[in-house]
Parts: sequence; C-alpha cells; structure tokens
Amino acid sequence: MGLRRSTINKLSDIVGKSHFSSLKEDLLCYGYDATGNLFMPDAVLFPANAEEISKIMVLAGSDGFPVVPRGAGTSMVGASLPVEGGVVLSLVRLNRIIDIDAENFTITVEPGVVTGDLQREVEEKGLFYPPDPSSSDISTIGGNLAQCAGGPRAVKYGVTRDYVLGLEAVLPTGEVIQTGVKTKKGVVGYDLTRLIVGSEGTLAVITKVVLRLLPLPETVKTMTAVFTSMERAAQTVSAIIRSGIVPRTLEFMDRASIKCVEKHAPCGFPENTDAALIIEVDGGEEETEKAVRRIEELLFSFDAARVEIAKTAAEVKAVWKARKAISSSLYYYGPDKINEDIVVPRTKIPDMVARLSRISEETGLMIVSFGHAGDGNIHVNIMLDKANQKHHQTALAAVDEIFDFTLSLGGTLSGEHGVGITKKPYITKEVGAVEIGLMKKIKKVFDPGNILNPGKLF
Ligand SMILES: Cc1cc2nc3c(=O)[nH]c(=O)nc-3n(C[C@H](O)[C@H](O)[C@H](O)COP(=O)(O)OP(=O)(O)OC[C@H]3O[C@@H](n4cnc5c(N)ncnc54)[C@H](O)[C@@H]3O)c2cc1C
Repeated sequence: MGLRRSTINKLSDIVGKSHFSSLKEDLLCYGYDATGNLFMPDAVLFPANAEEISKIMVLAGSDGFPVVPRGAGTSMVGASLPVEGGVVLSLVRLNRIIDIDAENFTITVEPGVVTGDLQREVEEKGLFYPPDPSSSDISTIGGNLAQCAGGPRAVKYGVTRDYVLGLEAVLPTGEVIQTGVKTKKGVVGYDLTRLIVGSEGTLAVITKVVLRLLPLPETVKTMTAVFTSMERAAQTVSAIIRSGIVPRTLEFMDRASIKCVEKHAPCGFPENTDAALIIEVDGGEEETEKAVRRIEELLFSFDAARVEIAKTAAEVKAVWKARKAISSSLYYYGPDKINEDIVVPRTKIPDMVARLSRISEETGLMIVSFGHAGDGNIHVNIMLDKANQKHHQTALAAVDEIFDFTLSLGGTLSGEHGVGITKKPYITKEVGAVEIGLMKKIKKVFDPGNILNPGKLF
C-alpha cells in the first residue's frame, strides 16, 4: 500500500532527513535476514533515542503503518522481516555503553551495541557477560533480548533472559516505560522485563538495558574430541553431564558439518571423523585442570579417536572460528536450507540423532546437525533447492516428522531462534489453544492497533 507523502514528511522530520530512506537500494538491505527471505519495507528509519521512537509509534498509530524493530538482521526465523511492509526501525544508532558498574556487576547499554563489543569491553575490566550466540560479532543486544539468544555457553550460564535486570522500552502506543530493577533481586509487580525479553519485537521497542555481569573466570580450557561414531559422541555428552562436571560449552558437530568446516575454516579434523565435540571448562585453575583430566578420561572411555587441548589463544580462536563458520558455510550443500533449533532432554540426544539419520536415509535429504549438545539444543539443517517443488515438499514433511518426534521426546521446537515467521505454522503443535489465546490478549494490551512487528508468532 505504501506510505502517504504526508506520513513520509512527518517521519523524515522526526528522525532528520539523513536518517530516513526510501531508496530502493536501502530498502533491499533492510528487507532480508538470515533466512534469505525478502520483504520490502516502505521506508527505513534510524532514530537516535527513545523520544524519536515514541513519536514514530504515535504516528504509526494515527497514520496506520507497521513498525518493525531491527538490530543486525541475523534472525534465523524471519523475526525482523517487514512482512506487511511499513517502516523498518533500525536501532544501530542507539549503540552507547552507558555505564559499567564494576562494584555492583551491572552494565547499562543501548540496544544497538554489538554483543561481541560488549563482551570485550567488560572483559577488559575483569568482568564477564556469558551469553554468546555464535553471531556475537554481528548481532546486537536488542536483537539478543528480543529473541532471548542462547549460544554455546548456555549449558553452564543460561541464556540472555538470565542476565537482564531491567529495561527502558517504548510501547506501540508511544509511552516510554521502565521495567525491572538495577539490583540483584526485585519482585515488585508482574515481571514485565521477562515478558518483553523473547517477545520477538512484538510488544515493545527496547531502548535501554541493564544487564547482570559475573566475575571473569580465572581459567578457561578448550578441548576438541573426534569420534568415528556419532552415537558414541552423543552418549559421551550424557556421560560428561552425569559425571557432575558442568562444562561451559559442550558443542557437537556431525560428519557433514565437519566436512563444511574443513572447506571454509580448516581445523585439522581427520578425514574419517563422524562427529566432533568442542568442550570448554572454566573456573579456578586447579578445579579446571581436574575437570579437563576427568573429561579426557571419559572421552577415551567412549572411544574418542583423538582428544586435543588448545595450548594457545590462537588455537582456541581457530576452534571457535571453525564452529562459528558452520552455519554460513552450509550453503556448500545447496542453495537453500531449512534451519531448525529443536531441544530434547539431553539423555534423548542419541534417539534424536538416530531418527535424523533415518529420515535422511529414507528421504534422500541432506540433513546437517550440529549445536549445543550440552543443553540438548540441536541445530538441524535440511539442505535443499526450494525451486524443486518435490524436494521442497519432502523437506517440509521431514520438518513435520522432526517436530513431532521432538515433542514426543519431551522437547521443544525452538531453544533460541524463536518463532518469527518460519515456525509460525507449527506453534500450535507445542502451545495449547488457551495459552495461545492468552498470548494474543497480551499482544492486544501492549499493541491494540497491531502496528509493532505484525505477522509474527501467531
Ligand atoms: C551465523 C549465525 C549464528 C547464530 N548463532 C546463534 C546462536 O548461537 N544462538 C542464538 O540464540 N542465535 C543465533 N543466531 C540467531 C541470531 O543471531 C539471534 O537471534 C540474534 O539474537 C539476533 O540479533 P540481531 O541483532 O541480528 O536481531 P534482528 O535479527 O535484527 O532482530 C531479531 C528480532 O529482534 C527484534 N529486535 C531487534 N532489536 C530490537 C529492539 N531494540 N527492541 C525490540 N525488538 C528488537 C526484531 O524485531 C526481531 O524480531 C545466529 C544467527 C546467525 C546468522
């Protein structure tokens, strides 16, 4: 439908001419995300603060256009796509680290701060922000909060939600609200902070965040183990957790992801590797060393073909470069992928892995799995060419089977990527009608005109 000329003029007045664009080349850049889908917005805005965002929301209510908040556009589920057109609200200019309180272990930031920059900044002060999605060098804190990002360290340290103390946010009706606390505890009223975190930009635009920090662990040890049997690798994951050690990461890669990694960010995995684990432990020097030795014993007792402990910072970097390269390098196998991030109880990982390999054999689909095995979160990637109708239909049927099996094991459809548009058709498999009804009512209370990120979740 497009924006009226009068609306364009008002928007441009709010943010300033140089922070408004309706040029096709700009719209193209803000109409896609990591799913590869494209929906063209009518305009892209780069507001500077909550006040401007509030004025934009009020105008959206009166002139009737959708507003879609956007961080770095790395969403894997289409959460940041302007599926109904309207305005993309890029938060990149809200990128200040406002305050680091080393005494009280908090940091106050704006949402456009890149997660990796925040991590490096606090680490220089001996502090630690654990959530570390593999996209951390690109994705923003605002996007991480909206999707409740996880990542490899969630197995020990939890997810983004566990570190958010308080927020400033702009409601779709234009009011600027403050939620939560700056203290370690706080139970006054409903927990609006936790409601907004993970709401995929559908309830409010986050404009300021208070995050909890931890002391930087004294030592971190990084190990890689390779296996000639995927099943043995999966069994090892449960054994490590059962042993009472809580590693800070416990990642796995299957044969296909290892092959990809070796092409794009070689890490020296042997040819016949069927599965690899990346394990990190942290803490005091002595306890970490003890944990490494115990894990090493366990790995060999489960037939690991090789175990390596990184000796230098460069070796650690190479391991993580390889791990973080998997997702984007998978296109080696096909022009399109269907990317799911199911979670199953840890002990059910071997069942899930076996089922995935059966589905792959029966359908001829290339299924690549890797992920955060320590918390049961498996990234399942079905590689395909969507232009091939038959292939696409087979892949969609496989997704159905994978989701049904995941739920039958007591799992969930998404551990960290969220629903967005790609999982929207499946949400009712997991969430009941009454609960969906409640969620819709909450959305209506926050956003009576349905202007904020419409067309997502349900
Ligand atoms: C290579 C790769 C690896 C990844 N690895 C991981 C991983 O390990 N773990 C993981 O959890 N995810 C991972 N992701 C997914 C993605 O990076 C995360 O979902 C991330 O949190 C998105 O951040 P973003 O800044 O790119 O947000 P966007 O993609 O721009 O937006 C995501 C959602 O947040 C909303 N949003 C953004 N900013 C705000 C704001 N200020 N206020 C309100 N809503 C807002 C948007 O409307 C949208 O709904 C990966 C993605 C890629 C491409």
